[in-house]
Amino acid sequence: MGSLVTAVASYLDVKKRGGSWFVRIDDIDPPRQKPEFTRLITDCLNRHALLCDGPIDYQSKHYRHYYAALTSLRDSLFYCRCSRRALRETAFYPGTCRDHSEPRSDAAIRIRVTNTPLRFDDEICGKMQYNLAEQGGDFIVRRRDGLISYALATAIDDGAANVSHVLRGHDLIDTTAPQLYLMHKLGLNPPQYAHIPLLTYADGTKLSKQTHAPPLNSEAASKNLREAFFYLGLNPPTALEQTPQEWLAWGLERWRIEAIPSVLPTFRQRD
Ligand SMILES: [Zn+2]
Repeated sequence: MGSLVTAVASYLDVKKRGGSWFVRIDDIDPPRQKPEFTRLITDCLNRHALLCDGPIDYQSKHYRHYYAALTSLRDSLFYCRCSRRALRETAFYPGTCRDHSEPRSDAAIRIRVTNTPLRFDDEICGKMQYNLAEQGGDFIVRRRDGLISYALATAIDDGAANVSHVLRGHDLIDTTAPQLYLMHKLGLNPPQYAHIPLLTYADGTKLSKQTHAPPLNSEAASKNLREAFFYLGLNPPTALEQTPQEWLAWGLERWRIEAIPSVLPTFRQRD
């Protein structure tokens, strides 16, 4: 339900602006790279009539771009072999390996950050300001095991596809500043961001597989959409029998990003 709420908000927000809605599967984290999960996601979107305006894109097809970006960023990169234990003590990277410019395959690659404020205007959270030097320090763009970081992959994909608007869960807001930093370095245009509050249980924990959130029943797509509208502050009527397409049209007519509650109603299982 948490993912559906975000997907519905993103879909309606883009459609309200007269834009095209695209789906990209971020599948470069190998343990999660399971084709059956991708099929589940796309099937679920289809059943909820959340149809994208173009072929579904996959990060796993873009490695060539990620490696090209590492090459063009090389003057700002360094190779870090600090152990996890050595870094556990500090809240931010102390810059230990900043002078290690010699490529090593057994090292993580970090990018040097500057001590300057990074600002962006979030359509839901308002004016945001980060300073990467004070918040985390030089960050990883390629892990020691070769995994490309979420920030690098996402910055490149959003920039290369000229994405104009990103609406995503609030759990990703802290990745925005690193993405903006990378986009600036790579000469890419940043999108407008909106970070939507997360759907949580009454005790504040986020709905996820780890917290045993019930899976969405795609057979009940109309009911799920009605419920998603409820969390998004749209006051859907209970007695309305509609197809998923009709529900989305209903939501589109009423959509206002300002109507999203700053804290979503608490999740509970409804019948
Ligand atoms: Zn290091």
